[in-house]
Amino acid sequence: MKYFDREMEHIERWKGLRRDLFRNEEPCIQRIGMTMPTEAMEDQGVTTETLPAYTARLSHESAGTHEDDLLLNRKLIRWGHHTCLEAVQFIYYVTGVSKSLAGQWTRHRIGIGWTFRSTRYVKANKNMFIYPALEYLDSEDAVRAVYAAYEREHKHAMDVYEELQALGVRNQELRRLMPVGWATAAYVYVNARSLRHFFELRLEKSAEWEIRRLAYLMFEDAMKIAPSLFEDSIKESV
Ligand SMILES: Cc1cc2nc3c(=O)[nH]c(=O)nc-3n(C[C@H](O)[C@H](O)[C@H](O)COP(=O)(O)OP(=O)(O)OC[C@H]3O[C@@H](n4cnc5c(N)ncnc54)[C@H](O)[C@@H]3O)c2cc1C
Repeated sequence: MKYFDREMEHIERWKGLRRDLFRNEEPCIQRIGMTMPTEAMEDQGVTTETLPAYTARLSHESAGTHEDDLLLNRKLIRWGHHTCLEAVQFIYYVTGVSKSLAGQWTRHRIGIGWTFRSTRYVKANKNMFIYPALEYLDSEDAVRAVYAAYEREHKHAMDVYEELQALGVRNQELRRLMPVGWATAAYVYVNARSLRHFFELRLEKSAEWEIRRLAYLMFEDAMKIAPSLFEDSIKESV
């Protein structure tokens, strides 16, 4: 973490207590693809980051350097000329997020799509759970007690799952037994414009903790690739 280390440290203050909980899983993101300029574009100095500015600049038939295009990216954002940001697409593989998070995430409709791990074709026997961060609780004893209660419920859900599975009930009905803290995994396809919108809403302190934690992780990664497209999200979030 570089940009949201303080926020992440706070949200993860009880992470150590979750380590050995029943089937605990923590979030993880892996960028598995992104838009790359063609070789001919690369020869002109165009990068993934400067694709938006390149297309805008060429629409005016203007010449420019890589540095000019980084500046132009920032101007496009200030001007609200955001369609150009759709030039860049990211693909992430995200694990260790809950079905509860999926419900919120999939409310984002524009410039973003997902393929979630199937709960019809993949058996739940090895499935994991996402425990809440509880960062607002200051008593370690209270946090341990809350985690113990969640653990109890998760074990119970798995016991009933196995009981009904043994009776021949199919995955597609068994999945209904699972609490919303059930872990899922997804491939997400999102363009830079939509990712900015996600950051605008979900890095913000009023966003729910789990989707905010995911936004922190994705923001840190996006900033490695294209800071000029995302850096202003920091100001908007604090
Ligand atoms: C802090 C927080 C609390 C929330 N609480 C709740 C809650 O209590 N209950 C609940 O149901 N949801 C809640 N939401 C979800 C929220 O209402 C949005 O559904 C979600 O954030 C997706 O945002 P969006 O529609 O802007 O994104 P997208 O669907 O990705 O849309 C992006 C942008 O495209 C434009 N757009 C998209 N569709 C249309 C359209 N049909 N017409 C016109 N313009 C469009 C808008 O400018 C929109 O901002 C909450 C979200 C946040 C961040």
